[in-house]
Amino acid sequence: MGKRPNVAVIGAGLSGLRCTDILIQNGARVTLFEARNRVGGRVHQTKIHTHLIDMGPNWIHGTGKNPIAAIAEATGTVLEDFEGNQALISPDGKAIDDDTASRISEVLWTTIENAFEYSNIHKDTIPPDRSLLDFIREKVEETDLTTTEKDLCIESSRLWGAYVGDPIERQSLKFFCLEECIDGNNFFVASTYKNILKHVSQAALQRADIRFNQPIVKIESEPRQDLRSPGKVTLTTASGETFQFDEVVVTCPLGWLKRNKQAFTPELPPRLTQAIDSISYGRLEKVYVTFPRAFWHADTTTTTTETSPKYTNFTNPTFAQFLNPTYTSPPKNIIWNQECISLAALPPSCAHPTLLFYTFGPCSTYIVSKLATIPSSTTTTTSSSSSDDESYNLLNTFLHPFYSRLHGYSASSPDCTPLAFTATQWQNDPYAGNGSYCNFQVGLTQGDRDIEVLRAGLGVDRAVWFAGEHTAPFVALGTTTGAYWSGERAAGQICNLYGLGRVGIGLERDDSLPSARAKGLL
Ligand SMILES: Cc1cc2nc3c(=O)[nH]c(=O)nc-3n(C[C@H](O)[C@H](O)[C@H](O)COP(=O)(O)OP(=O)(O)OC[C@H]3O[C@@H](n4cnc5c(N)ncnc54)[C@H](O)[C@@H]3O)c2cc1C
Repeated sequence: MGKRPNVAVIGAGLSGLRCTDILIQNGARVTLFEARNRVGGRVHQTKIHTHLIDMGPNWIHGTGKNPIAAIAEATGTVLEDFEGNQALISPDGKAIDDDTASRISEVLWTTIENAFEYSNIHKDTIPPDRSLLDFIREKVEETDLTTTEKDLCIESSRLWGAYVGDPIERQSLKFFCLEECIDGNNFFVASTYKNILKHVSQAALQRADIRFNQPIVKIESEPRQDLRSPGKVTLTTASGETFQFDEVVVTCPLGWLKRNKQAFTPELPPRLTQAIDSISYGRLEKVYVTFPRAFWHADTTTTTTETSPKYTNFTNPTFAQFLNPTYTSPPKNIIWNQECISLAALPPSCAHPTLLFYTFGPCSTYIVSKLATIPSSTTTTTSSSSSDDESYNLLNTFLHPFYSRLHGYSASSPDCTPLAFTATQWQNDPYAGNGSYCNFQVGLTQGDRDIEVLRAGLGVDRAVWFAGEHTAPFVALGTTTGAYWSGERAAGQICNLYGLGRVGIGLERDDSLPSARAKGLL
């Protein structure tokens, strides 16, 4: 086309930042509209007490050719291969011994591996209403675990909800293959995503025209005359200003698209609307609670006597899972299993006496809806460090039954009284799409095709491109890596169209289905 395009990117999350970076490197003019007063979107840090914590992602999923892992390394980000002790707490609040816990865990993870393989191979014939839980129940029944262990294993399998943001009875077995990640270990980002975000946002902050606090409410596009002409897209901000661009990249979260289809003129095509409606949006939230001391870790200087059964997972936990807790009174019909990670188990430079609880599905919606009624809590975060405070009391009432089951708890010890809580409220945040990230729920019939339709956006014809975690390559959907790659892809498409360079663009991404690889089709 031989013209330097004038491009708008909507959203300064990882996808928008990466897209902006590539476009600028290849000579496009970029205006970045961001609804908030900061970059990062769902990648965001805050403090609990004096400790820096991530409100959004804190894992890097897979290390095989993962650009986020490479950025972590380049920026001196501390990662932890968190394969630690998993304490399982039984329905009556007691620790389950190490041998039983490891038998249960082995069956569970083997079954999940098998479910991936099964979904990959049989995706086309698995009925849409079959859930991951159905599969796990069936397979666990075939094992030689005792009846009690089988029940505990099923309860333990509910932890998968914290990966996808909704309960496993909602996880589609047919499209479970779309949850498979890049090869390699999952790393916990011990020093937070702060330096990664700083690195990814550098070019945009220095060289793009960034408009903070400028939510876009209208995207009007005219058909491109021919492939050699620039497009014509008009954006309207919430304050009523209008701007015209040659190309627009929309990185608003899937949850935002679901609620704002009317922002597009002309109307979105029916197949794109169907894709936006069909793919679900998860409800993962976090509650951090910090203490004066990590009372749940046994003092390793004291000598232990050899006993059987052993409880080392319980006395030095990295993770704890509370199975079918009968010692709390949850709201009716809401599964109240919980799990947490000990941030005291991180490398010494990053460790602090904090537990990170993950909540999801109806449970997280319940907590977030209660927080929303407390005037002092903001839309994304609730932080509370005073026991007079309503949110402190709400969160303590919620979590006390769980942290008080951990090793070393004593009601009379000041070490066991929380100093502060911080809870996310992504479901109350319209610019996060009122949720966490895309997931694939029972009833979905064409999940892989829907993602391809989302990636195509309005296409070259309308000059409106889509990016964001929901348009990522299949192996990276719902992740920071996927968001980053999706921004790179959208920028690359615009660069191709205008005959710009390909500076900074990584290798061609493998956008194929995992099942294609499983069947040896590639
Ligand atoms: C609780 C939680 C835990 C997670 N854990 C992990 C994890 O461990 N590992 C992992 O890889 N991923 C994780 N994720 C997912 C990861 O955060 C996302 O996949 C990724 O950050 C999405 O980037 P994005 O650019 O697609 O979207 P976003 O980061 O949401 O960026 C979109 C941007 O658009 C802006 N915006 C929205 N609407 C408008 C509008 N109308 N006008 C202008 N601007 C607008 C938003 O403010 C935002 O800045 C987690 C997410 C959550 C919420």
